[in-house]
Amino acid sequence: MEKIILTGDRPTGRLHIGHYVGSLRRRVELQNSGEFSEIYILIADAQALTDNADNPEKVRSNIIEVALDYLACGIDPDKSSIVIQSALPQLPELTFYYANLVTVPRLQRNPTVKSEIEMRKFGEGIPVGFFTYPISQAADITAFKATTVPVGEDQEPMLEQTREIVRKFNSVYGDTLVEPNILLSTNKACLRLPGTDGQAKMSKSLGNCIYLSDTPEEVRRKVMNMYTDPDHLKVTDPGKTEGNTVFTYLDAFCYDGCFAEFLPEYADLEELKEHYRRGGLGDVKVKKFLYSVLEETLEPIRQRRLALQKDIPAIYDILRKGTEEGSRKAASTLNEVRNAMKINYFDDADYIRRQSEEYAKQDK
Ligand code: ATP
Ligand code: MG
Repeated sequence: MEKIILTGDRPTGRLHIGHYVGSLRRRVELQNSGEFSEIYILIADAQALTDNADNPEKVRSNIIEVALDYLACGIDPDKSSIVIQSALPQLPELTFYYANLVTVPRLQRNPTVKSEIEMRKFGEGIPVGFFTYPISQAADITAFKATTVPVGEDQEPMLEQTREIVRKFNSVYGDTLVEPNILLSTNKACLRLPGTDGQAKMSKSLGNCIYLSDTPEEVRRKVMNMYTDPDHLKVTDPGKTEGNTVFTYLDAFCYDGCFAEFLPEYADLEELKEHYRRGGLGDVKVKKFLYSVLEETLEPIRQRRLALQKDIPAIYDILRKGTEEGSRKAASTLNEVRNAMKINYFDDADYIRRQSEEYAKQDK
């Protein structure tokens, strides 16, 4: 079977280093592996409107920011189609049909939706569109016949819900949709990168992010203010590395050669952690090292972004072309779905002929 990737992001802000380690870095590797026949990256603006309905300008202005971040990180428009979600009417149509296959309690049990509702303080006032977004996400994934979905850990319940919808659809209407697999990072620190404030998840909505497009000064300031171990007061105190955000970021970003380049007195990350746990290693030293490690990744991305920013109409052309490619794929899937559901009234000449024969018989 052909291998197809679908993944995406909500244009609610510029992309941050959590997106990078959770999904983006992997997407670029997969794109360049040549293993996938089609790759679709969805800028999920319609989904972003489910909790930003009163702020369309925010969503609109962030489309270009997300596109610039993608391209700066190495997404190649000749290999991956960048698709604007709201430009594909096939997606809400699929959502409408899938909604009949999902119950309200099943949606209420979705742990990601639960925690996001809490985080957004909706209380009883949850917008219907937001509540049902896992169904629209199932439409996004299945419209492209995706086999592989590289995302962060918070998306696991969405993938499970999608797989259920696919199984239900195929059992009711016949084999039509493809059951997708989630592709999670094997590096534990990358599954859900915490915020600079130590909160469980770096998230645009929580304002605890280091953005891919931050200036070196911003990155330095954010790193220097990062949450570490609150009990590690004096340099000589023993410190905790577990749950210490600075070390989690090092787990996510350190690569072979980092120590030789920036901190040659240690052989590797384990040795650095060991010293911190023993006591005698100050936060400032570790943070300075982290800053250098981060900059090694961020500086080339920043430079590419600055170059890309010089020709904004060219970015919109890339988006238009990607959206056209995505639209063709979604239209073909929708056609199959309509046939399977037997709502293809005008196209089924055989059915019309049989019906007329039936009526003709009655006339006799
Ligand atoms: P919002 O707060 O608007 O929901 P977000 O920061 O959660 O924004 P999304 O656009 O919802 O970002 O997520 C895009 C992708 O990035 C998803 O695959 C998600 O799993 C991944 N992702 C987001 N935040 C993190 C994180 N902190 N660590 C790892 N992956 C992440
Ligand atoms: Mg999110």
